[in-house]
Amino acid sequence: MPKVEIIAVGSELLTPERMDTNSLWLTAQLNELGFEVSAKTIVGDQRERLSEAFRQAFEWADVVICTGGLGPTEDDVTRDSAAQALGISQVHHESLWVELQEKFARMGRVTPANNRRQALVLEGAESLPNPNGTAPGQWRDPQGPGQKPLVMLPGPPRELKPMFLNHVLERLRPLAGQNVLLRRILKVFGLGESALDERLAHLYPQHPEVVVTTLFTPLDLEVHLAASAPTPEGCLERIMPLEEKIRQELGQYCYGQGQQSLAEVVGQLLLERQATLVTAESLTGGLVAQRITEVAGSSQYFLGGWVCYSEAFKHQQLGVSWEMLREHGAVSEPVAYALAMNARQQSGADYALAFTGYAGPSGGTEQDPVGTVYLAVATPAGVETKRIQFPGDRELVRSRAAQAGLDWLRRHF
Ligand code: AMP
Ligand code: MG
Repeated sequence: MPKVEIIAVGSELLTPERMDTNSLWLTAQLNELGFEVSAKTIVGDQRERLSEAFRQAFEWADVVICTGGLGPTEDDVTRDSAAQALGISQVHHESLWVELQEKFARMGRVTPANNRRQALVLEGAESLPNPNGTAPGQWRDPQGPGQKPLVMLPGPPRELKPMFLNHVLERLRPLAGQNVLLRRILKVFGLGESALDERLAHLYPQHPEVVVTTLFTPLDLEVHLAASAPTPEGCLERIMPLEEKIRQELGQYCYGQGQQSLAEVVGQLLLERQATLVTAESLTGGLVAQRITEVAGSSQYFLGGWVCYSEAFKHQQLGVSWEMLREHGAVSEPVAYALAMNARQQSGADYALAFTGYAGPSGGTEQDPVGTVYLAVATPAGVETKRIQFPGDRELVRSRAAQAGLDWLRRHF
């Protein structure tokens, strides 16, 4: 497959605050087209460093795609650096400049002089329209021996995606390889990484045409299955037999596929049964409700929830008796039980999920150290409780407890 290098430009992408998500999205598109992304580079807004990155990419990649740094300000250096790496100049396109001024006029603003540089196009390149922003993209075909196609896209994902789909995809297609690459993802919860591997490893040699990778995310596990073939259907023909075997082997542990979240799967199950859910959350503080309501349409099955953090609130709002709280403590099986049962009864929902536990770093008892979580699920058939001991820090304990509760509810359907 022809090889692509993606260069993501932006100093913010080198900080812990911002992620380069553009290259992930682009990689999926490129793989589907029949390109291999063999390297990606993240470079800060530095001229020299960036033109060096372009030079290196042009040396080996069949196509170079960059994102970001096409803005009007001094730190937007992508155009200049690409020109420098190619040893070419930039040309002022009056039509772009006129268009830009019209865009500003429509917003009732005068075009800042800075923006003039957005009308600069690399010698030999075509500009790509950007109806969602001010920075045009560029496509440059090779103009001499040793040169490679260059695609320059704006940084904001909502500008980059339509530009790629409307103006780049079809131009790339003739350059793509004979094969396309297709990846399917299985979502797994409740197994450790090595337990997963133990179950699946014997299957891999039976299907050497499929590349399998397992990924451990903070929320769950993913099994990625990738294959290449001349068509997407051909890829599926290779992947599906192995996927079937993996699903068999994993049984209930596999909860979904692709981008599906556990909350989405639980929501789907509730919807199919026309059932409703409420939550009573102590240690998770609303995290479960948040995950559930992240899913569009969740109002059809999620009635609401209590963030019952203090003992008094557990007592006042959900009728947990003071005797019980005194005798067993707020983090206990009877309290989880009472929270779920009362939440279900008071709300009239079909299902209730309750969470109480020690997220840490302080708290806990000898018997129930930090990481101990009591879950309860109230269903039309009764109330069940479960004690789980989670490793990890406060954030992980809370996150995993929320996920474990959703998974447990899923297994009740
Ligand atoms: P720029 O085109 O460099 O002015 O980038 C404008 C904005 O786009 C940045 O502030 C980011 O929010 C976003 N952005 C730039 N590059 C990326 C990237 N690789 N992935 C996700 N967002 C990006
Ligand atoms: Mg930038």
